[in-house]
Amino acid sequence: MAAAMLVQENVPLAPMTTLKVGGAARFFTEAKSISEVTEAVAFARGRDLSLFVLGGGSNLVVSDTGWPGLVLKVGLLGIDERVEREKTFFEVGAGEEWDRFVARAVARNCAGVECLSGIPGSVGGTPVQNVGAYGQEVAETIVSVLVLDLKDNLVRELCAEACGFSYRTSIFNTTARGRYIILRVTYALTPRAEARIEYADLKKHFYGWSVSPTLTDVREAVRWIRASKAMLITPGDEDCRSAGSFFKNPVLTPEEHSALTKRAAAKGLQIPSYPALDSQRKVSAAWLVEHSGFSKGYNSGRVGISRRHALAIVNRGEATAAEVVALKDHIQQRVEEIWGVRLEPEPVFVGF
Ligand SMILES: Cc1cc2nc3c(=O)[nH]c(=O)nc-3n(C[C@H](O)[C@H](O)[C@H](O)COP(=O)(O)OP(=O)(O)OC[C@H]3O[C@@H](n4cnc5c(N)ncnc54)[C@H](O)[C@@H]3O)c2cc1C
Repeated sequence: MAAAMLVQENVPLAPMTTLKVGGAARFFTEAKSISEVTEAVAFARGRDLSLFVLGGGSNLVVSDTGWPGLVLKVGLLGIDERVEREKTFFEVGAGEEWDRFVARAVARNCAGVECLSGIPGSVGGTPVQNVGAYGQEVAETIVSVLVLDLKDNLVRELCAEACGFSYRTSIFNTTARGRYIILRVTYALTPRAEARIEYADLKKHFYGWSVSPTLTDVREAVRWIRASKAMLITPGDEDCRSAGSFFKNPVLTPEEHSALTKRAAAKGLQIPSYPALDSQRKVSAAWLVEHSGFSKGYNSGRVGISRRHALAIVNRGEATAAEVVALKDHIQQRVEEIWGVRLEPEPVFVGF
């Protein structure tokens, strides 16, 4: 007979997040297998509790009152590899640490995720917002996602197209939010392929190299660049007490973009922007924040902006979620007043 699932009560959530704010979970359990996941779902249903699925806690702002229902931490482990035609397929448990998987892929000389080195959180968290950095995103390599569908309690495999990936979005954080628990993700990587060096920071890093950087070189460079921006979780570095970038880069229509560039030109400024889908333009949220009176190192009581990254709201120690939200609101309001653009937060707000 399977051992009974361990459910704890009033478990503080702040230590399970990178921002380290917020209250407790009324109930908490960690599932190490698919049957434990279904058991946890049955527990929540049986008591009419709302369910929150927790990965590595690196993209969350937990409210000061915590979560009134059940928090289910997905702890399914395992990395299986198979080679088929020109690709190596990695089937990875949702509870695996993302960067451990990237390290494995790079060690196997398989390209496709090397630029995503050093991103905190779990494998199961990566399809949710289509994690991306330094010129790569997981949508390029995910072939399928194994999920528990809470609509009919069935385990099913969603192909990449069904996941609806776009910039920092998928069905998991938009149209089907809360419907699926991600159990396993399959990535198709390319053995012995060249590393992706398209992003300006990486080009600069490798400028002057006479040989092509290997995947390991790129992984090390990305981790080094991330550490210099406090975007790599480093124990004791207080600028890392964040949820990463707090705002998404706004994607504007041509009309909105032209209105914004006119406002910038009137101030003698030029806003960095990049092409996005469907003739839209993606503009730098960091630039907007910095040009609205919030420079790196800005402080407001126990919260502030990282000294090394304008987009990271940091907890300077013992901050509350309310203080984080107040700073977020303040930044959004100033950016909108000055630039006419509404910044959209990237992290997930839990229990608000
Ligand atoms: C220092 C730092 C740097 C970062 N850099 C980047 C970056 O470069 N690029 C980037 O895209 N992101 C970045 N992030 C954000 C974050 O690391 C990613 O979004 C990460 O994938 C979140 O995964 P997680 O497991 O921590 O998810 P959590 O924070 O635990 O959860 C986030 C959301 O995903 C859902 N979720 C998690 N696991 C599952 C599951 N198994 N099934 C269903 N839903 C699930 C949760 O319910 C929640 O809605 C950064 C964060 C930090 C703190």
